[in-house]
Amino acid sequence: WQPEPRDKDAIARAAEALRSLDDWLIVTHERPDGDALGSALAVAHMLDALGKRYAIAAGEALPPRFRFLPMYDRIQSIDDLAPRQFRHIVAVDCADEQRFAPVAPLIASDRFVVNIDHHQTNPRYGRVACVDPLAAATCEVLYHVARALDVPLAVDLAKCLYTGILTDTGGFSYPNTTREVHQIAAELLASGVQPYDIAEPALEARTLEQMRLLQIALRDMTIAPDGRYAFILVSQAMLASCNASEDDVEGLVGFARSVETVEVGVLLRERPDGLVKASLRSKRRVDVAAIAQRFGGGGHARAAGCVLEGTLEEAKQAVEAAVIAALREVDEACKR
Ligand code: 5GP
Ligand code: MN
Repeated sequence: WQPEPRDKDAIARAAEALRSLDDWLIVTHERPDGDALGSALAVAHMLDALGKRYAIAAGEALPPRFRFLPMYDRIQSIDDLAPRQFRHIVAVDCADEQRFAPVAPLIASDRFVVNIDHHQTNPRYGRVACVDPLAAATCEVLYHVARALDVPLAVDLAKCLYTGILTDTGGFSYPNTTREVHQIAAELLASGVQPYDIAEPALEARTLEQMRLLQIALRDMTIAPDGRYAFILVSQAMLASCNASEDDVEGLVGFARSVETVEVGVLLRERPDGLVKASLRSKRRVDVAAIAQRFGGGGHARAAGCVLEGTLEEAKQAVEAAVIAALREVDEACKR
C-alpha cells in the first residue's frame, strides 16, 4: 500500500514548475516552525537534485533548535538578498502573504509564484497553488512533490520532510495524524532518518530559560470557572525576568490545552512591538481558526493564531469573549 496524493494534478503542476524553471527564491513564513523550515529546506534539496539555482530566505531570527536540519546554514536573511533578482518564487507553508511581509509585494506581483501549503485559510495565491488542507504538514505535500519529481529520497531530504511531519503532528499525536502520515514517515525512516535524532532537538529539548518561563507562566495560568478553557499570558517583563527569548515561548500554549477539562487553550504573548500575539489550540470541537479569523488571523481548526492591539489584559478580554461564544455554539450544535 502506497500513500497517494489527494490532488494528483496540483502535485504534478508544482513538480512540473520546479522541474522546468530555474532561479528560485524559496520563502516561508515568519517565526518559522519545524514544518516551515523543513519544507523550505526540503525544496532546496529537491532543487539541488535537479541542478537548479536557488536561495532560501527567512524573515526574522531562526529558531536555533532546528540547527540539525541539513543546509540550515544556507538560509539567508531576506535583507542580505535582493529578492527582486529572483525570477521564480516558491512559498512553502505560507497561508497568507502578510505572514511573509518582506516578499509580500513579490508574491502579489505578476512574478511566477508556486504556493505549496496545507492551511485551510490559504487563499490559493500564485500561478501554481498546491494546497492540501487535509495534509498534516506542508512536508506531507512536499513528499508527494518529491515523488512526482522522481528525485531520490536521500537521507538529508528525508530528515527535512520528517521534521515537518513530526512537528506539525505534535509527534504523531494530533488528529491530523493519519495512516498516510505513518506510511510516509516509515518510508523516511527507510531512507535512514533516525527518529530520536530529530525528536530530541525538535520536540523534547527545552532551554533553561524556557524552563524558568514555564514555571512562572504556569503559576499565573488562568482557567475558566467551568474548566473548559485556559489562558497563559506572557509579557515582555516576564521574558526579561527569565532572560528568555521570543523563541522560548514556543510550545507553551500546549500546556494550556493539556489541562484535562480544557477544550480551548490560549497563549497571549506581548510582542516587542507592543502588539499581542494570540496562539489558540483546541482538542476536539472548537474551530479555533474561525476565532482567529475574527481577529484577522487564521490557521487550522485545532491550531490557529492572530495578532491583536491593546494590552495583554484587553486582548484576553476580547479573545475570552470569542472563546466563550464558540464553546456555547458547539454546545448548541450538540443539542440540535
Ligand atoms: P502559532 O500559534 O503556533 O503561531 O500558529 C498556529 C497556526 O496558526 C499556524 O498554522 C499558523 O499558520 C496559524 N497562524 C498563527 N498566527 C497567524 C496569523 O497571525 N495569521 C494567520 N493567517 N495565521 C496564523
Ligand atoms: Mn505547517
